Amino acid sequence: GLSVGIVGLPNVGKSTLFNSLSTAKAEAKNFPFCTIEPNVGVVAVPDPRLTALDGIVHADRIVPTSIQFVDIAGLVRGASKGEGLGNQFLSHIREVDAIVQVARCFEDSNIIHVENRVDPVGDIATVTTELCLKDLDTVERRADRARKAAKGNVPLEKLALEICEPLAKHLDSGFPARTFKLPDNPDAAIVLRDMQLLTAKPVFYVANVDEASLKALDSNPHYVALKKHAESEGSVIVPVCAALEAQIAELEPEDRPEFLAEAGLKEPGLYAVVRAGYEILKLLTFFTAGKMEVRAWTTTIGARAPQAAGVIHTDFEKGFIKAEVIWWEDFVNLGGESKCRDAGKLAIEGKEYVMRDGDVVHFRFNV
Ligand code: GDP
Repeated sequence: GLSVGIVGLPNVGKSTLFNSLSTAKAEAKNFPFCTIEPNVGVVAVPDPRLTALDGIVHADRIVPTSIQFVDIAGLVRGASKGEGLGNQFLSHIREVDAIVQVARCFEDSNIIHVENRVDPVGDIATVTTELCLKDLDTVERRADRARKAAKGNVPLEKLALEICEPLAKHLDSGFPARTFKLPDNPDAAIVLRDMQLLTAKPVFYVANVDEASLKALDSNPHYVALKKHAESEGSVIVPVCAALEAQIAELEPEDRPEFLAEAGLKEPGLYAVVRAGYEILKLLTFFTAGKMEVRAWTTTIGARAPQAAGVIHTDFEKGFIKAEVIWWEDFVNLGGESKCRDAGKLAIEGKEYVMRDGDVVHFRFNV
């Protein structure tokens, strides 16, 4: 499955967040470097459309779709040069598909801040700089290789050099690879992809605020500063109180509504974190709805019907004939498949159909 790595300086609340997200329990102690091995958790993507669909079909079970979160510890200033846990965690970051940077926006004199101040924008910059420096190494090595090979007049190597030289400058100025403008050449994306740069991955931010701030975010100057920063680069920012989320995660489901209401929340803050992860991974959800189960499935934005069918079963893709597609709201409002068919709201789609987020699908296939 696709995965989101939780990254940030020590003691900002990564493990607390991760523990609340997953059933796996990592250690959360008031000390840097307590989570040494990366922890992986599979997280259900909250989706109210599932419940709505089940209200029509009353299935035996509801199966949400999921993504993975990985708690990645060990990033400190100087990490790219081997400080702290050194390079080990960098390989963990390389393996994830997207990154959530957690930044501390709460004051608490009992909890050590590694740099002795609460400064989320500075913390984000420290983390980004370390990742940029690591990428700079990678890009410089690639440029060296290209320079040697370019003597042999290999077109791809010439292109690599054309990319790597300005990209190195870009990274050296502290800008992530994802904001670098590639030359207009279809092979450029391949050159970039092959370098597996850390800062080429999509990113969003979690602002870990104190509980009081949840009701008045604009009165928390740390949050306001981080939000401004996120907006300036067009990034998503999600406020949560990790400590509160940890408590919510421990509650029995029936006790949650009252607890949430007291905290001024409509739903656990984690839901927004999971949805933001899903969103930056450029995923879409489609549904199957039958007596046996109502189920959410994941494919990538832009996927065509056979590819989506292949998510359910490889035979569905190989033997794909057609897809019967109903918009989820029609399914719910009209009362299920046969009613939608009668109302002309069931479309028969072929191989070229581009999936929409919210389609309820029945695939027809040859075995
Ligand atoms: P990590 O090093 O980033 O994984 O940070 P941890 O999740 O281990 O948290 C470090 C310390 O901060 C722990 O003692 C947590 O209980 C505490 N902490 C985490 N989130 C919050 C929060 O929202 N508010 C407060 N006051 N403390 C928190």
